[in-house]
Amino acid sequence: MREYLKFYIDGQWVDPVEPKTADVINPATEEVSGRISLGSPADIEKAVAAARKAFASWSETTREQRLEVMLAIQAEYERRKQEMGEAITEEMGAPLSLGTGFHTMLGSGHLQTAIEVLREFKFEELRGSTLIRHEPIGVCGLITPWNWPMNQTCVKIFPALATGNTVILKPPQLAPYSAQILAEVLHAAGVPAGVFNMVQGSGAVLGTVLSKHEQVDMISFTGSEGVGVQISKDAAPTVKRVGLELGGKSAYVVLDDASLAANVGAATGAMMGNSGQTCSAGSRLLVPAARMAECIEAARTAANSVTVGDPLGNAAMGPVVSKGQYNIIQEYIQKGLDEGAELIAGGLGRPAGLEKGFYVKPTVFVTTNDKVIAREEIFGPVLAMIGYDDLDDAVEIANDSTFGLGGYVVGEDLETCRTVAKRMRTGAIWVNGSFDFHAPFGGYKRSGNGREWGDFGFLEYLEVKAIIGYGATPAHPAQI
Ligand code: NAP
Ligand code: MG
Repeated sequence: MREYLKFYIDGQWVDPVEPKTADVINPATEEVSGRISLGSPADIEKAVAAARKAFASWSETTREQRLEVMLAIQAEYERRKQEMGEAITEEMGAPLSLGTGFHTMLGSGHLQTAIEVLREFKFEELRGSTLIRHEPIGVCGLITPWNWPMNQTCVKIFPALATGNTVILKPPQLAPYSAQILAEVLHAAGVPAGVFNMVQGSGAVLGTVLSKHEQVDMISFTGSEGVGVQISKDAAPTVKRVGLELGGKSAYVVLDDASLAANVGAATGAMMGNSGQTCSAGSRLLVPAARMAECIEAARTAANSVTVGDPLGNAAMGPVVSKGQYNIIQEYIQKGLDEGAELIAGGLGRPAGLEKGFYVKPTVFVTTNDKVIAREEIFGPVLAMIGYDDLDDAVEIANDSTFGLGGYVVGEDLETCRTVAKRMRTGAIWVNGSFDFHAPFGGYKRSGNGREWGDFGFLEYLEVKAIIGYGATPAHPAQI
């Protein structure tokens, strides 16, 4: 049983102002795995005051001083990696190999990337006689979800700190453990008091206070569209910056020169990774309609070969995060059946032999793009496969979505892949399975407005100042 009852404020582990706790459920067993404290607005007030005070000095630190702190964090994070992975598995149900692997590695990847970007980033640039300065925005409220907890936390914290901001983290109630370990990492690494603060508890309570707060200069949020809209409204009267990373219904386009069996199988397997709880998941698989029979065979084989079970065992897929998410996913599967989609793998209920735990069957439907299961983000292991007639049709289907977060194109002819990728209206497209920590990540349309990862992630947390007439030699632009 884990007991994480203190918050991290002003460089210390402190008791909540009003004692109140909540149980945390292990999604694999449905048993209580630990307890956290639930914060109140008074805890946020303390955290904001600490962050505001610390901003005065942290914003004035040099690149080298911040680099030193980041390197100390890196050493400490490396030391705690195994524990971190175990916490992620326990809180949100990812198989242990995934928790200690990709989940934890995404956190360290964003940290390493922030270090690399910080070494090179041009905070000042002379253009003619005008000095352009990128200055930290101030006190940032970071509100994060449970599905890739270290990815989403680290992709915010490290760019924010590297650019001289101070932060208050509000982790997800469903998955609060990994954030607690990260706070311990930052403390052990000697991050100065008040630069990083963390209060656990309800988003509706704490997130609202942060979003409305006069002394909070920015909110960076990852999560659902509805909460993103609410945060924007709460933040509007104080005109603070709001960075939103919301949901998606990303298209995975398999071109007809690709090996269909291999690529449809890989796309299906990828959809089931992390139990389908990935905002950029390729949840609409677009395949050549003329070869649908082959694609159905490949998708069915791939979905049926995904082993589901205990995250501490050898299964490829664990449970989904909570009873609530389980129920939502079941409703979507029922919806798919009701709207006449062809079920080719999985379906309603738990996989055979799993009576306890929030386990969902890897499910594949063949459908059309106008159906609810092709339009709404299900956030579970449910794939909608859709046939396209030609490339124009594929692009039209891909773009016919209220979302625009990710996209995938696979094919033999790179030039065709490039053309399709350029025509897709989304913030990031992965061609033939490539991956890049320095590539910006964020959404078009209702998938959000910010860009995280790499140097674009730094710009999220920076104001732009122009000092006109700063340069003595305007005829000779130079870089400082
Ligand atoms: P969510 O409700 O949007 O929660 C994300 C974070 O926002 C949590 O820390 C949450 O706190 C907090 N929050 C909730 N209400 C808030 C408010 N009024 N003001 C400020 N913060 C608030 O997401 P969820 O409930 O975890 O998942 C629901 C759906 O969101 C999923 O089905 C999926 O479609 C989408 N989602 C998308 C992503 C993504 O990466 N784009 C990630 C996760 C979820 P609590 O801890 O109290 O909930
Ligand atoms: Mg919620």
